[in-house]
Amino acid sequence: MRVEPVYVLAVFIIATAFSLLFLRSKYISKLARSVAANVVPVGYCVAMYFFLWLFDQRFLVPFTNYSYSHKLFLRVNYPLPLVSLAILFLSNPGKITRSNHSAEVRRFEYDRILYTPFTECRTCLLTKPARSKHCSVCNACVAMQDHHCIWVNNCIGLRNYKYFILFLMINLYAFIYGFILIIFPLSSSLKLAWSQASSNANGNATKLWAAFSILIRLGNPEKTGACLLILCTTLAPLVAAFTIFHLMYVYAGITTNEADKWEDIKALIHENVLFMYKPSSILLLKRPDGTFNRKLTPDEESFISSHNSKLTVVTTEKELPNIYDNGFASNARLLLSPGEP
Ligand SMILES: [Zn+2]
Ligand SMILES: [Zn+2]
Repeated sequence: MRVEPVYVLAVFIIATAFSLLFLRSKYISKLARSVAANVVPVGYCVAMYFFLWLFDQRFLVPFTNYSYSHKLFLRVNYPLPLVSLAILFLSNPGKITRSNHSAEVRRFEYDRILYTPFTECRTCLLTKPARSKHCSVCNACVAMQDHHCIWVNNCIGLRNYKYFILFLMINLYAFIYGFILIIFPLSSSLKLAWSQASSNANGNATKLWAAFSILIRLGNPEKTGACLLILCTTLAPLVAAFTIFHLMYVYAGITTNEADKWEDIKALIHENVLFMYKPSSILLLKRPDGTFNRKLTPDEESFISSHNSKLTVVTTEKELPNIYDNGFASNARLLLSPGEP
């Protein structure tokens, strides 16, 4: 049976959309969701290797005149996506257990903005260390939790963030390199299809579709090349944007989880309900009935009276320091080598 790349591409797009919707649905049982969560990494590997096989057997061998050593180099690269996925899939994101809990509590100070001390995880029944978050899929609190990655069905946290960046970069490398390897041998066919489409169709979207239709009728290598080109052109910018986002988070010294928390803080500032004793970092939240969300601790009261602190409304997030940002180099060093606190 001959596999049509166009159908493979369509099945891949539909399966990805279906998996994302399925995993996000509230109406799916926990067991079904956990089975589906493990199917996604397997599906990613199957799809990736199927596209690599298509590229190798239907495009690289019959259509290109790349040298033997270049083809050998490419084939040595083929296992990289699988290796990076396996490393991330099997890695420990920094799960907090009873044995490492006290050390993890010492790792980061509580900033009393995003994280307050003495908050207990209702599932693990342990005090939450600053920057940690409980993941219901992994069923554990994770140190410096960033997010739960559905592509590898594992949390991304303090101890495996470096492998996550590696995984993103290898995927980005695969899509950009794949794009370059396909576009050059296909350039004369692309020009031919585009000139024919330009004379027959109006409007850029119609021309693109007409050119694609002409291209896939030229022959099997052109058909495979066109489908793989669509895949690389769509996925490379998405992965690039995601990688840049994460590098910006490392630069800013925040996690994805903290970025969400800062958005909530900005909304409170916008509503003029966040108050702060200055000088200090003691924050209080004003309820709709005019009362504050909590009582001051004796330590806080003595600090306020000794420093003559005044309660003022917070007007900008710049008044709230991010104590976890120690500069890009230090932030990156922490993720590369978390060590023991
Ligand atoms: Zn927990
Ligand atoms: Zn998780």
